[in-house]
Amino acid sequence: MSRLHVDWTACDGRGLCAELLPELLAEDDWGYPVPKGDLTVPPALEPAARQAVDRCPALALRLTAVSAERAPASS
Ligand code: SF4
Repeated sequence: MSRLHVDWTACDGRGLCAELLPELLAEDDWGYPVPKGDLTVPPALEPAARQAVDRCPALALRLTAVSAERAPASS
């Protein structure tokens, strides 16, 4: 499990990440990503999250590991 982090000082609002991760990010009127939650990345979305990190033109995205005991409980 991992969590997506946005460096708001680097993001230039092109909206690519919201296109790649619509389950986690919305896009505001200026193209900046709007988190839909705490940005914990479920396993099924890990590939898309890694792709967003790799393709962010501003290098504003990164993934960090979330330890199992801190991850939200799944139902
Ligand atoms: S892809 Fe990067 S630069 Fe573009 S909106 Fe997302 S975080 Fe910002």
